[in-house]
Amino acid sequence: MSNLMNELAVRLLSGDVEVIDLTQVLGPDTPIIHLPEEIAKNSAPFSMEQISKYDKDGPAWYWNTMTMGEHTGTHFDAPIHWVSGKDYPDGGTDTIPAQNLVGPACVIDCSAETAADPDYLLTADGVKAWEAENGEIKAGSWVLMRTDWLALMGRDNFLNADDTGPHSPGPTACCINYIIEKGVMGWGVETVGTDAGQAAMFETPFPAHSLMHGANKYGLASLMNLDKLPATGSILIVPPLKIENGSGSPLRVLALKAK
Ligand code: MN
Repeated sequence: MSNLMNELAVRLLSGDVEVIDLTQVLGPDTPIIHLPEEIAKNSAPFSMEQISKYDKDGPAWYWNTMTMGEHTGTHFDAPIHWVSGKDYPDGGTDTIPAQNLVGPACVIDCSAETAADPDYLLTADGVKAWEAENGEIKAGSWVLMRTDWLALMGRDNFLNADDTGPHSPGPTACCINYIIEKGVMGWGVETVGTDAGQAAMFETPFPAHSLMHGANKYGLASLMNLDKLPATGSILIVPPLKIENGSGSPLRVLALKAK
């Protein structure tokens, strides 16, 4: 085992193992989800207030106070985020085992389908077709839905909403049930939330939330750069902030991949 870590260290330092940043910039313009005012309260957007900047309030240091919702920008969804996962004693950002926060990634490329139809839904059959080419999804893996969404829509149209609501890709309930059967660790997307824009209207509403969190599994939203990852063979590093009883948190998402 020590050989393995030595080898990794050598390869990291030589650049043979690359670190890929899958994180969007977190700032006042970071797109956040918007719920209809008549059904729910919304989250505050990101804001930052300066405490000092090498000035009278702190002569040699610069720092800020931040305000944001837990589910802002590139962020982690913990099981207690959803009512279906509320009773898991290890389902909050402070109680999730650290071992669960580093693991292999399976990247399913749905970018062409999404470019043709922003409401594209990945089904269980779509996942099985990916497995036929890339091998079976192993227990403990993260499944990431690549859509190139930020490049396709830009920050200004990230929600892609009209008077019928947001239009963005996501999984069907059968897709989520299938990956839960496989024993995956989590589900990640490049859109604002882990579910499709129209998922409130599904027969099983918000399946990536209700089913995944009901099974004590995790979500990642607003990822980017999934086009830089291979279909298999990369390692994802996704530790949320250790917020006491937190339902989720912004985070820096990194992936390791061999060159
Ligand atoms: Mn979330």
